[in-house]
Amino acid sequence: MSVSLIDRPSPLPPLLGASLPELTDWVAQHNQPAYRAKQLHQWLYHQGGRSLSDLSVFPKQWRSELADIPVGRSQIHHRSAAPDGTVKYLLRMEDGQIIETVGIPSGKRLTVCVSSQVGCPMACDFCATGKGGFLRNLHRHEIVDQVLTVQEDFEQRVSNVVFMGMGEPLLNVDVVLDSVRSLNEDVGIGQRSLTVSTVGIPGRIRRLAEQRLQATLAVSLHASNQALRETLIPSARQYPLEQLLDECRDYVDSTGRRVTFEYILLAELNDCHSHALELAKHLRGFQTHVNLIPYNPIQEVDYQRPSPQRIQDFMDTLKAQHIAVSVRRSRGLAADAACGQLRANADSSTSPS
Ligand code: SAH
Repeated sequence: MSVSLIDRPSPLPPLLGASLPELTDWVAQHNQPAYRAKQLHQWLYHQGGRSLSDLSVFPKQWRSELADIPVGRSQIHHRSAAPDGTVKYLLRMEDGQIIETVGIPSGKRLTVCVSSQVGCPMACDFCATGKGGFLRNLHRHEIVDQVLTVQEDFEQRVSNVVFMGMGEPLLNVDVVLDSVRSLNEDVGIGQRSLTVSTVGIPGRIRRLAEQRLQATLAVSLHASNQALRETLIPSARQYPLEQLLDECRDYVDSTGRRVTFEYILLAELNDCHSHALELAKHLRGFQTHVNLIPYNPIQEVDYQRPSPQRIQDFMDTLKAQHIAVSVRRSRGLAADAACGQLRANADSSTSPS
């Protein structure tokens, strides 16, 4: 075994996700001038750099020394496109784990739905991801990579990012906040075009409020009362609805931003007139927006999507109570890429990459 006596610069995790000041420190540790950090930043975030040995503006000698330093890009393991243009990607991380990412084009907009964990421990009854259990948190470079991968594949700038893929973002809150910073400052996506969706973890929404997060917060409510919510979302037992709503109110007060409430519509279960009235009562006088999500079917459970008329009635009841509300159009159903259908398998793919 050989032991190097040369003082090596401190090891850095994969470079992707690093800010310009972090890259400037790194470059300085390598005794290189500061402008090299800007070159590296540009190459990482805007030129799709994958291996430092290809960074042609760097001196050849230094490049070869850097060749083994990980950049942090994934491989596309599988790609499937739905007829509506939505593309689902299975991405392979360095440790071989597979995650899902979805690209959703809409006119000039391109939204990426990113995963924050491999699997999910929350086990919500209606969600495919939870059925597969939890493996690990993602690192920040793995989140930023998902956005760059979709941007490169579509050859179009990503305009919006939603943390609505696999996982519960607030269980990986430090990494999620770090990747929000990078997507905003390094990739150049406006904070308000970034949405973090959570089922709610006690104390964590307050944490986002303290950070004065300007990204959009979306809370997966899905029920108009505590008893019903507990039947759908096991973790709700440890987080009473009142406490969750209190944290959301504090969030609105500290950030000045409204909160979006996501509400899956499950036929005959939470979609009655009385549920809409109960929901409206909780949200009265609260700066919110309700996003209704007609249930997307998954194999394991037999919930039903309500009829279009019932969805319309639910929406009208909320509107009559002066609640801002919209219905989320399901995208990517044919590629099993819609909300709640992400489970890192390629079986249902329509066109392999
Ligand atoms: N864990 C986070 C983010 C991932 S889920 C959260 O719960 O918010 C993203 C959205 O898809 C959530 O609102 C989630 O409840 C919703 N969803 C899950 N399963 C669904 C299904 N089968 N049909 C429609 N929406 C679903």
